[in-house]
Amino acid sequence: MKPLSKELLVRPGAKFNLSEFDPADTHGVDKETAISQLQKNLDRLCVLQYLLYAEAQRTVLVVLQGIDAAGKDGTIRHVMSGLNPQGVRVTPFKVPEGAETRHDYLWRVHNAVPEFGQMGIFNRSHYEDVLVVRVHNLVPKSVWSKRYDQINDFERMLTENRVHIVKFLLYIDKDEQARRFRERLEDKTKRWKFSPADLKEREYWDDYMAAYEDVLHKCSTANAPWYVIPANKKWFRNLAVSQILCGEMEAMKMKYPKPLADLSAIKFE
Ligand code: ADP
Repeated sequence: MKPLSKELLVRPGAKFNLSEFDPADTHGVDKETAISQLQKNLDRLCVLQYLLYAEAQRTVLVVLQGIDAAGKDGTIRHVMSGLNPQGVRVTPFKVPEGAETRHDYLWRVHNAVPEFGQMGIFNRSHYEDVLVVRVHNLVPKSVWSKRYDQINDFERMLTENRVHIVKFLLYIDKDEQARRFRERLEDKTKRWKFSPADLKEREYWDDYMAAYEDVLHKCSTANAPWYVIPANKKWFRNLAVSQILCGEMEAMKMKYPKPLADLSAIKFE
């Protein structure tokens, strides 16, 4: 089996057809194996985050996108749960308000990139500015269509300045979304999550898929790749995200800084 990082990577410039992608795919992994492997990945992530923090030279930025109920919150809960909260900054991106509306669309995003040594997690991101904004014509096409290049330039600037970007699209199909909405309505501990606006957005499903396909085609770059995660099965989603993130962080070849003191000169009485 090819590693998931290879299977799920969107090659730069590739045309990506979401309707041909199976969101229930588990790439030959069974649930039991996935759960035990997930634990190993979480342990490893914990070590890698510690290294990132100790080195304090680079930032890791995880971008999570997905349609409503795709599992962005669940992924943060399950995959990032072992991390040291001192080294993680989670930023949800909502409808812009206040000062955000009085700046360019990337202002709030740049502001949310954490300092070196930290991990940033974006729950939604600047990609909303070519997703919801495009689907609902919140700005004219002449404006949003220029943003793909702007986003690539922005991400390239970040990667050239020690920010390691990894982007995940959590992909569920329309039936799975309906199932999750129903579950939210039936379970009184989840009912609060349901919003009638989600049902309205569901009517734009095809437009969203077309907008996502353009994002994948135009904005998966060598420096800031997109991975499409089959997310119908939560256990597989968690396995895939954790595995790919471990691989990305291993590839950074981080090192503990040298001790400040000359250890041979230190003597204890
Ligand atoms: P969740 O991310 O859990 O769905 P909300 O229900 O508060 O959180 O939804 C956030 C909403 O903000 C989404 O509908 C999203 O499309 C919207 N949003 C995020 N960024 C922008 C943006 N730049 N312009 C317009 N809407 C945005």
